[in-house]
Amino acid sequence: MSKPIRAVISDLDGVVWRGEAAIPSSVVALRRWFERGVPLAFATNNSAHSAAEFARVLNGFGIPVAPSHVITPIEALTAWLQTNRPGANCYVIGGDALRTSVIAAGGHVVEDAGAEVVVLGTDYDLGYTKLRIATNALLNGAVLLATNPDVLSPVEDGFEPCVGALVALFDAAVPGLEPVILGKPQPGLLLAALDLLGADPGDTIMIGDQVSTDMKAAAAAGVRGIRITTNPHYRPCPGDPPHGVIDCLSELSPG
Ligand SMILES: [Mg+2]
Repeated sequence: MSKPIRAVISDLDGVVWRGEAAIPSSVVALRRWFERGVPLAFATNNSAHSAAEFARVLNGFGIPVAPSHVITPIEALTAWLQTNRPGANCYVIGGDALRTSVIAAGGHVVEDAGAEVVVLGTDYDLGYTKLRIATNALLNGAVLLATNPDVLSPVEDGFEPCVGALVALFDAAVPGLEPVILGKPQPGLLLAALDLLGADPGDTIMIGDQVSTDMKAAAAAGVRGIRITTNPHYRPCPGDPPHGVIDCLSELSPG
């Protein structure tokens, strides 16, 4: 890397950890950068937990990040609901963090197919009943509001299907569905991080494991994208934005 790196925005899944397991070399590097005072924020598409919960996990790894410096699609979800469907009845496929954000946005969490919005995130209790209720709500005209378009999420022993794979399921089942999809590759999460850090996009890198989300969001925000090679399922596609490639965060020296 010839150009100096003054600030870092990093993804979480596939960069800092896989499922519950930390990626040790990443944790060591991030801890060192924090100690050196490198402006650092995290931008994740994962909505299974709140920013405060992610910050607590990072703190447990010795990375002393504040919740304000962990940016998730939950804030974008709250803003979308307040702007577009204030007070809407929402059916939530997702965890407590998503339910809380719907309520915080002034929405109502309902448990039937009369919902006006189906909020879609990662839900470890997902089963056929929830899929049926959501499908019927969408067939009745509800909006599908998805937290991210990722199709795969790295876990300890491989990968699991992510929210984008569920969007594809509903898209196949519901004629004319036009989902609203938040998170990366839209630049919003990265622009919020740049704002927070007071960083110049030209001096900032975005580290991520996914080209379709992380590297595209970096390009859209004017930030240099650096891909870490923890996703062996990546296949280059025409239109992929140019980006740097590393095997390990120790290859970078910001500051
Ligand atoms: Mg990732």
